[in-house]
Amino acid sequence: MVRYLLSLAVFCSAITCTYAQSLDDLAYFLYPNLESNDISFVEGIQTPEEFLGYRTGEWHITHDQLVSYMRYLASASDLVSLTETGSTYENRPLLLLTVASQANMGRMDEIKAEHAKLVDPEASRSLNLNDMPVVVYLGYSVHGNEASGGNAVPMLMYALAACMEPNFRAMLENMVVLVDPCLNPDGFQRFSTWTNMHKSLSAPNPDPQDREHSEVWPGGRTNHYWFDLNRDWMPAQHPESQARLKQFHDWYPNVVIDAHEMGTNGTYFFQPGIESRNNPLTPENNYVLTRKISQYHGQSMDNIGSLYYTREGYDDYYLGKGATYPDLNGGVAILFEQGSARGHAQDSENGVLTFPFAIRNQLTTSIGTLKAARDLRVDLLEHQRAFYTTAIQEAKSDELKAYRFGSEKDPRRAEALVNMLLRHQIEVYRTQDEKEGTFLVPLEQRQYRYIKGLFEKRTQFQDSLFYDVSTWNMLMAFNLNYDELRGRSFNKGMLGALVTDFLESKGSMNGGQSDYAYVFETHGYYAHRALYRLLKAGLRVDVSRAPFSDGENDYDYGTALVGVANQSLTSDQIYAYMQEIADEDGMNVYAQNTGYTQGVQLGSPSMAMLRKPEVAIITGQGVSPYEVGEVWHLLDQRMNMPISLLPNERFGRFDLSRYNVMVMVNGSYSFSKSQKEKLQQWVRSGGVLIGTKSAVRWLSSNDFTNVSFTTASKDDPEGRRPYEMARQYSGAQVIGGTIFEATLDRTHPLGFGFEDESIHLFRNHTTFMKLANNPYANPVVYTADPLASGYISDRNLEALGNTASVQVSSLGRGRVISLVDNPNFRAFWYGTNKLFLNSIFYGHFVSGATTE
Ligand SMILES: [Zn+2]
Repeated sequence: MVRYLLSLAVFCSAITCTYAQSLDDLAYFLYPNLESNDISFVEGIQTPEEFLGYRTGEWHITHDQLVSYMRYLASASDLVSLTETGSTYENRPLLLLTVASQANMGRMDEIKAEHAKLVDPEASRSLNLNDMPVVVYLGYSVHGNEASGGNAVPMLMYALAACMEPNFRAMLENMVVLVDPCLNPDGFQRFSTWTNMHKSLSAPNPDPQDREHSEVWPGGRTNHYWFDLNRDWMPAQHPESQARLKQFHDWYPNVVIDAHEMGTNGTYFFQPGIESRNNPLTPENNYVLTRKISQYHGQSMDNIGSLYYTREGYDDYYLGKGATYPDLNGGVAILFEQGSARGHAQDSENGVLTFPFAIRNQLTTSIGTLKAARDLRVDLLEHQRAFYTTAIQEAKSDELKAYRFGSEKDPRRAEALVNMLLRHQIEVYRTQDEKEGTFLVPLEQRQYRYIKGLFEKRTQFQDSLFYDVSTWNMLMAFNLNYDELRGRSFNKGMLGALVTDFLESKGSMNGGQSDYAYVFETHGYYAHRALYRLLKAGLRVDVSRAPFSDGENDYDYGTALVGVANQSLTSDQIYAYMQEIADEDGMNVYAQNTGYTQGVQLGSPSMAMLRKPEVAIITGQGVSPYEVGEVWHLLDQRMNMPISLLPNERFGRFDLSRYNVMVMVNGSYSFSKSQKEKLQQWVRSGGVLIGTKSAVRWLSSNDFTNVSFTTASKDDPEGRRPYEMARQYSGAQVIGGTIFEATLDRTHPLGFGFEDESIHLFRNHTTFMKLANNPYANPVVYTADPLASGYISDRNLEALGNTASVQVSSLGRGRVISLVDNPNFRAFWYGTNKLFLNSIFYGHFVSGATTE
């Protein structure tokens, strides 16, 4: 690396700049990363400072400003093109910049098509890798309040567009650089507003206690619905991830960086992470290349005198993170973690950490990545080719040949999983008989490893500490029936049509218009959306607490009934609504011309009248924004139901009579005595209060319920241990995210619409709820030996067996529903959402005699 003293006078003639400060900016951020002092810039392209009017890191760039500058660079430079790949919930554009040499820009379609052959084992054999460009993807600030990444982008993009230093230009000769300037625009905008509005204008205030450094709840880390987008690469439930995956699979980048920030006292981390926690599905060569690339990052940081570390933190286990997903798709992904100024400057153990310093580190390692990709180009291309060739070979020798999965009564839930698989470019087929809601995924296809990653059950682990969940089996998360087809139980003749488009099947209208009544079963994922649609229209809707039959069809527990007489809508209007819930919500609606059904009749006291849910959720400091966001997203996005987000600090002032359902998720609630009494009074007068996870404990210890708990044995048979084992040992007692089996009572209102008594639950906590004395009060109970997939210590597993997951309690005329597990985890637990929705819709008519 050439070290040199910067002489502003020398550079000035070569550089297009309007004032001296720009020079300082370039000198600080960019020059140390250039390999000679033959530095010049394309004339006529504005620097970030010239365009934005402030120096890099002086303010936090807002997302709108970032977009403006990216658009400007794309228009000002022939070497940059911009694609708008989608938009966020808040309608901000998602961008992808493509940068390449002039010659390569002119043949980008050809390069892309050639590159795509690398992931096709049939086509990749004949490729001459020596001539092929390497594809690098640089992604920033998926966590919106980890802003140094997104703030490094203007300078990075300026350099890519305008810097003419010969080695820098030569580096790009055989490379396509894709830059995703901000993976989470909504969160990024939120944080920039917060930190800029608190900026001390005389000089940045590094006091960690200053308001600038502690955002108000929920902070800028997450997207609009407060989801962590760095967990969504696999579930792909949000528009940001969906747009990104489309680009990813169009390109299949060879190197991916994912730039984050960590605590303020941290220095700088880049992968490799903790190697004992590598995902076993990732080929060893991925780690060989990761280690080689890390040397470039080390050298780049040495060059600017910044401290860093590797290997002692973070891991590549969960396949749904930005720094791991590409590893299972033939690339090599690297996590960056910069100590966070969380504002413009903050005191740290390492002195004052300034925002420009953090930005410079991110820029420097990013350019280090480009250097690594330049030097390792052929190795990286070869890795990708071999990744897919060996994937097919491994699939051929795997005795597991295919997964068949589906749901007879709820095709939309199975289709939601199919849609997820399609986003990962996994081939999914219908069965030969084209049965709705049943699908086959053969393993012998290029995405073999990712299919294994999505569907495998794992209960043995090399390590017992996890940075994230230890399992995410999608067949279990969707609670689908499935078969693992081995050996001769599968042949290609079983495959029906290949699924080529996203699926969303309609329901059916049976028997035409009726002047008497309509019924529909509620197994469908969108049943509650249908119910809400009808209730909102002012219709009276019942659900049946007993099964019945009209002679032609049998109707299960929870079947909905809409009578035609004595409604506020006309027969024609009601018929139109029935068609709407069939088309939009996938309901199979059956017209009835007589109430004289078998089992119970349509006028039976077993029919329970629904009330239109008016739902509020308690939010604010101390409450998990993720879990509030999951509820908000489920209701607002999927069920078209508004929900009021009530800040807990103003709880005393709210008029609770507006609501008949209240939700408290995981969190610590510090209600005053009068606030508690107010909430109890609201329940007593008929409210349904739903608590999840730690809220279950709070409700119990504050006299809302009699729920009691058990704990795992604390006996420590091993006695004294070395100090350095402490973290490992306590970590092993954490349930970080594991899947368990439970049984569900389908005759209980909370079990209505489920197809089976067996259910999978997700758990990431150690609150164990004892069975109630009332034998009807626990509609969902863990089996005796419940582990289905993931990590749990023996002593926790012993404690968990035969405990309750759900308990219903009475308080006056109201009900308190304790859901000790989170049924809405990260928006991909489609299989348990119904428990939560049933609690909202049916909680009020659970018989008092069955509650604790
Ligand atoms: Zn992060």
